[in-house]
Amino acid sequence: MSTTCCVVGGGPAGLMAAVLLARQGVDVVVLEKHADFLRDFRGDTIHPSTTELMAELGWLEDFLALPHTRVERATVGLGEETVVVGRFDRLPVRCRFIAFMPQWDFLDFLAARGAELPSFHLLRSTAATGVLVEDGRCVGVTAHDDDGTPVHVRAELVLAADGRDSVLREAAGLEPVAHRSRMDVLWFRVPRVPGQESPLFNAGDGAVVALNRGEYWQAALIIPAGGHDALRDQGVGALRERVRRLAPALAEGVESLGSWDQVRLLRVRVDRLRRWWRPGLLFIGDAAHAMSPAGGVGINLAIQDAVAAANILGPRLLGDGVRERDLARVQRRRSWPARVTQLFQLVLARRLVPARPGRTAKPPLPVAVVRALPFLPHLTGRFIGLGLRPEHVRS
Ligand SMILES: Cc1cc2nc3c(=O)[nH]c(=O)nc-3n(C[C@H](O)[C@H](O)[C@H](O)COP(=O)(O)OP(=O)(O)OC[C@H]3O[C@@H](n4cnc5c(N)ncnc54)[C@H](O)[C@@H]3O)c2cc1C
Repeated sequence: MSTTCCVVGGGPAGLMAAVLLARQGVDVVVLEKHADFLRDFRGDTIHPSTTELMAELGWLEDFLALPHTRVERATVGLGEETVVVGRFDRLPVRCRFIAFMPQWDFLDFLAARGAELPSFHLLRSTAATGVLVEDGRCVGVTAHDDDGTPVHVRAELVLAADGRDSVLREAAGLEPVAHRSRMDVLWFRVPRVPGQESPLFNAGDGAVVALNRGEYWQAALIIPAGGHDALRDQGVGALRERVRRLAPALAEGVESLGSWDQVRLLRVRVDRLRRWWRPGLLFIGDAAHAMSPAGGVGINLAIQDAVAAANILGPRLLGDGVRERDLARVQRRRSWPARVTQLFQLVLARRLVPARPGRTAKPPLPVAVVRALPFLPHLTGRFIGLGLRPEHVRS
């Protein structure tokens, strides 16, 4: 088949870019290798930068009607004490909170918005395998559906948004520069009693992040990178004990954790491409810069890439065509916010994961500094909530 823009990957970056391009009238085909968007234990945090985009698009009311919980302040529990390290209540936006929303609901919402547009086409269960190249220019992608039937899509532009394990990255011969991540994450669910509260971060001899999902806590135990096997050898009782110690609010609920089958290990990766593009091909989101869960900013950064790409490339796709300098412009706009945010994530991981077992994790900001400078949580709130160089949808 042939289209104007082929987007590979129906994650936050790919779907948002596709919907924004289709909204401008660009013919778009999205290839998504899975049949649905069900993916638990991935980014669930919609930050004010993204909710503001929902408002710009006129979708805010419908978006807020989806089940979500709201967090106006990022808090760290240190034993008995709770410290506010980030505040969103003075941000110059309509929604001054982080919305915790299952990622599948958000992606379903974007896909439904796309389906309303005649030039938006989503092919589920279709996995891209490589790029079609003619005269040194990418002119489309090769793929196959669930039955193995080959699918070839020719396109004027390929947007690669196939995440941190990007197949297209390899196919295009682009190798990322990787940073050594200090942490891995164990995700699990813990039943929650209505009205129960917990700080977002619970720091001590390690750290537990507790995301309120209404009926349950989506909990993350942060462990040193590569530390999973040693912990597993100690049995699930040792995991429960660690959670009880770090996050008292979860102490009772964590008893329901009976086996390691209820625990998901996610290896954290932080990397980035030096060059995000080849002629006819542009990488965005995690495919261009894999983000760690630290700070919960990955989805939002991916969305910002999508907005910049649609703003810059949409008019070119409808006009004289995309030039190499247009692709370079998208990278120039988005690469430094991604690099600075990755640096922040690496520093945060260093504080959250003690250098040696038995040492105490530190909160994201030194408590004494937060107390001395009451405006600081507003600054961190702005950095986390809006990010650097927030993008706006151009009509
Ligand atoms: C453990 C963990 C927890 C995280 N928690 C948060 C959080 O709380 N908040 C936050 O903002 N960020 C979080 N992040 C980061 C966030 O998930 C990513 O930064 C974000 O999802 C990137 O979006 P993306 O669209 O670029 O890529 P992805 O979300 O990875 O989407 C890529 C899509 O491409 C599809 N795909 C892959 N290969 C192919 C192929 N060959 N053909 C077709 N389709 C393909 C995939 O199925 C997927 O749908 C977390 C990351 C991890 C690892």
